[in-house]
Amino acid sequence: MQGTSKRGNSSWLRRLANVADRTACALRAVPSQCAVCHAWPAQRICHDCLVRLCTTRSRCRTCAIAVPAEVVQCGACLVDGTPLDHCVAAVDYAFPWSQLVAQFKFQPDPAWAAPLAAILRSAPHAQHLLDGADIILPIPLSRERLAERGFNQALQLARHLGARHKLHAHVLQRVGHGHGQAHAQAQVGLPRAQRLRNLRGAFLLHPARAAAVHNRRVLLVDDVMTTGATLHAAADVLRHAGASAVSALVLARTG
Ligand SMILES: [Zn+2]
Ligand SMILES: [Zn+2]
Repeated sequence: MQGTSKRGNSSWLRRLANVADRTACALRAVPSQCAVCHAWPAQRICHDCLVRLCTTRSRCRTCAIAVPAEVVQCGACLVDGTPLDHCVAAVDYAFPWSQLVAQFKFQPDPAWAAPLAAILRSAPHAQHLLDGADIILPIPLSRERLAERGFNQALQLARHLGARHKLHAHVLQRVGHGHGQAHAQAQVGLPRAQRLRNLRGAFLLHPARAAAVHNRRVLLVDDVMTTGATLHAAADVLRHAGASAVSALVLARTG
């Protein structure tokens, strides 16, 4: 599960070409501009921009932070430990992805779910995680946040990952307020133990569905990973309930 290699890079580009084709098919009925370079008519992100912007990089096997080539796990994961077996991120949370994710969830524009999920699914090792998972759980929003936004972007992404039969939308539940991206950003710079303390009790399992994770390999899906505290809090709850493995698939990773 090491981050990248030259070989990985060419297969990533091949998969991206497929993404561009699939995205074009899905959106052919609605010609539009590429959201990045404004080529027109194009799919939501044109083929040239996908190939230019989806460059592979070496990432820590368990938190997906960028690491030098040959490094398998980052220092923080080695020192602090992590409840995640594997973590894959498709892109960096930077231009243009940060803007596109914002359009997806804050405008909000749910039509971004399919093309962004296609990019997520094409990331190195993503398909391996999808194939190996018994169940797929999107990171839930709190009830307040869901009411405010109208949809859960993580669930929308998960629905388009091509493994709908494994998707369980209501097993993992979020309690209390917010804990959205603003909250995650506020956690940057805090020690891991403190971040986890802040999120303790943020997740619980639906009482009637908790058995669904026992002895199962669980794959968590989210749009953006910042400190990892959210995914760790969810993974801790799942491990406590007897999940045999917990991994994560995220669209974008902050640096
Ligand atoms: Zn373009
Ligand atoms: Zn790491």
